[in-house]
Amino acid sequence: MTDFPIAVIGAGAMGCRFGSQLFEAGYDVTLYDVWKEHVETIQKQGLKVKRGESEKRIPIKAYDNPCKLTQVYDVIFLFTKSQHTEDALRQYQKVISAKTHLVTLQNGIGNQEAISKYIDQDKIIVGTTTYSSDLHGPGFIEVGGSGEVLITQVQKGDTGMLEKVAEALNKASIQTRVSSNTILAIWEKLAFNAAINTVTAVTRLATGQVGNHLRGIELMRGIVEEVAQVAHHLDIPLDAENVMKKLKEVSHPDSAGDHLPSMLQDVLKKRRTEIDAINGAILREAEKFNINLPYNRTVYNLIRMTEDHYLQQETHRLRP
Ligand code: NAD
Repeated sequence: MTDFPIAVIGAGAMGCRFGSQLFEAGYDVTLYDVWKEHVETIQKQGLKVKRGESEKRIPIKAYDNPCKLTQVYDVIFLFTKSQHTEDALRQYQKVISAKTHLVTLQNGIGNQEAISKYIDQDKIIVGTTTYSSDLHGPGFIEVGGSGEVLITQVQKGDTGMLEKVAEALNKASIQTRVSSNTILAIWEKLAFNAAINTVTAVTRLATGQVGNHLRGIELMRGIVEEVAQVAHHLDIPLDAENVMKKLKEVSHPDSAGDHLPSMLQDVLKKRRTEIDAINGAILREAEKFNINLPYNRTVYNLIRMTEDHYLQQETHRLRP
């Protein structure tokens, strides 16, 4: 067993992937999630992980009720959807101590403000990942593909734990780099998600269908160029062409197939989406510089309207 205990708060698709790989690398990992059935399945049968044709069950600790908690953790990975960040930290506050470092690889940029209410800025580790995972049902994830994690500390200071987190992830076969380019990478992913997630969610078309339609490309270009404009005001050298190139690559019929981005999946399942941490957060940044973002404003309003409509009927559906 290695020297520091790790908690994962929000043990869905990604939380289970990162948590189980760290556990298998010898770390003392505990999963926390509010989804009782999921947690009970993991407690009784272990976490089922499918990778290609192989499947295994991993006997990892999992809990739901924060009232039973007595332990605090040196490192917490937060893997809820962005809209649940604040609730999760409030609910699981007992596992946070003054020493705790919190790692967030969540999509969007709104999370940091919520996290800083609970964790000092010099203990927040932000990053981005190109790994993916799917949650098929209680206690069951499917992982695949290669990827990368880039991490950095929000505020400069002692980087000892940042290095230890990178080392732990690498030991867990999650390729990780501490990089000063992390903020640029976060904004590139933000622009990418702001475009592909919204356009697929509004049209209900898959990635390939949007990326191979001239109007889809035109809409995504409008969104991405606006995000670049905001980034430049923040001295982040976001290159819209670079993001468009990646969007075209993932939209290529050979690679995209019929992939449904998470925002489209959320809309189809009538769940709240991450729109506020993606396009919503971009609009909030733009307001600070008095910039008008018509493409982002339009898709933001369309998704919010759609969500508000179905959530009025089903206000508590949070998961598949
Ligand atoms: P998910 O919906 O599969 O998992 C989120 C989990 O959080 C759920 O199990 C849910 O029950 C739990 N949760 C909700 N509220 C909670 C609370 N108050 N306390 C504790 N747990 C709570 O989501 P995901 O796909 O794993 O995504 C997590 C984050 O990672 C998102 O920001 C997403 O954009 C990002 N991301 C996902 C992928 C992917 O392939 N799935 C890839 C890159 C980044």
